[in-house]
Amino acid sequence: MKKVVKFGGSSLSGAKQFEKAGYIINLDKDRRYVVPSAPGKRNSKDNKVTDLLYKAYALAASDKDFSNVFSEIEDRYNEIINGLSLKVSLDEEFDKIKKNFMDKMGEDYAASRGEYLNGILLAAYLGYEFVDPAGIILFDDEGNFESHKSYDAMRDKLENIERAVIPGFYGSYEDGRIKTFSRGGSDITGSIVARSVKADVYENWTDVSGFFVADPRIIKDPENIEMITYTELRELAYMGASVLHEDAIFPVRREGIPINIRNTNKPEDKGSWIVQSTGQKSRFTITGIAGKKGFCSVNIEKDKMNSEVGFGRKVLQAFEDNDISFEHMPSGIDTMTIIVHQDEFIEKEQSVVAEINRLTHPDSIDIESDLALIAVVGRGMKAAKGTSGRIFSALAHANVNVKMIDQGSSELNIIIGVRNEDFENAIKAIYNIFVLAEL
Ligand code: ASP
Repeated sequence: MKKVVKFGGSSLSGAKQFEKAGYIINLDKDRRYVVPSAPGKRNSKDNKVTDLLYKAYALAASDKDFSNVFSEIEDRYNEIINGLSLKVSLDEEFDKIKKNFMDKMGEDYAASRGEYLNGILLAAYLGYEFVDPAGIILFDDEGNFESHKSYDAMRDKLENIERAVIPGFYGSYEDGRIKTFSRGGSDITGSIVARSVKADVYENWTDVSGFFVADPRIIKDPENIEMITYTELRELAYMGASVLHEDAIFPVRREGIPINIRNTNKPEDKGSWIVQSTGQKSRFTITGIAGKKGFCSVNIEKDKMNSEVGFGRKVLQAFEDNDISFEHMPSGIDTMTIIVHQDEFIEKEQSVVAEINRLTHPDSIDIESDLALIAVVGRGMKAAKGTSGRIFSALAHANVNVKMIDQGSSELNIIIGVRNEDFENAIKAIYNIFVLAEL
């Protein structure tokens, strides 16, 4: 068996957390490839090293003194070295990085050093080989991740290395300049490594025991999701459920490598499994609920709209010409509604409305703002009767007015639009009816 394990920033935030990660890795000899993040926060008032690196580099880039921020960064690593009595010094690395900051090597280079330095320390602590992903994880000139070249290069590199630490979050352009993924991108690196070595499982160690059925900021102590499919996760992640970077499933998905989200502080918890498909029934009719506030609906009415060929295309063209992507498009016989992100739409509102008028000559255009969208997701909904009925009666009982409903054609999700101020109550009502009532 081959396991790739990724440890997030809070799992490697200081010497104590390194010890926990080391214990977990050494517990299972199959945990052969380790992908670390940069040290994260040790407590709520602390700084993430990545944030400090961005801050120091911003000062360096405008020729200001960055030595104070930089020594805070040095302290973080030295605390780990001293706490673990490592026989390594990063002083030469620090000097090189400071010089490169002064030479304005770029923001991505700066940010990547958090993972790079943590990787050196973790490799020394575990006695694993250190493998720099620069020159292996590759990006094209436009900054797009070159997946297949990278998988091949990573596979070739690791072929003869039994155990390695590969820092997360970055790779390089073909000319060697460093390029990072977006924030939280070490999850993607872990997935790339898992795919390249054809791992049996990709374990992603973090500070929660997996996914919750609903956001714990809204539902107190929500139930855990034991198993979720990649597709369900995509739907929930898109609607705001965040534990894993949303691009992290792509590399492993093709190979069907399962991802296991685990808690470094509670290694005995089983966590959540993300799998390609499963015959296992989910615990509840629904797998999860997620949602976001801040949408607008643009409602267009015109008599006999349904028989006018090309009407929909013209409406969407008005959005496309203004560079606005739309989220949902429920329609009636003589009405069509386009749901968009409020902050994106608001500044172009009048130009979109003018263009819809010009292209389609509608009877009316009505805009409603401050809407929230809630996604109720679950592979079990397809086979269950009355799911939407249960949702709407729960919402009616909670006195929530439903503004929109859209069931995805895969029958995997139902999207509900409510007013922003009803958002929390709506989620509670749905949780109660599907989770508490089914426990
Ligand atoms: N250290 C980077 C960040 O804070 C990447 C990561 O942790 O995945 O975003």
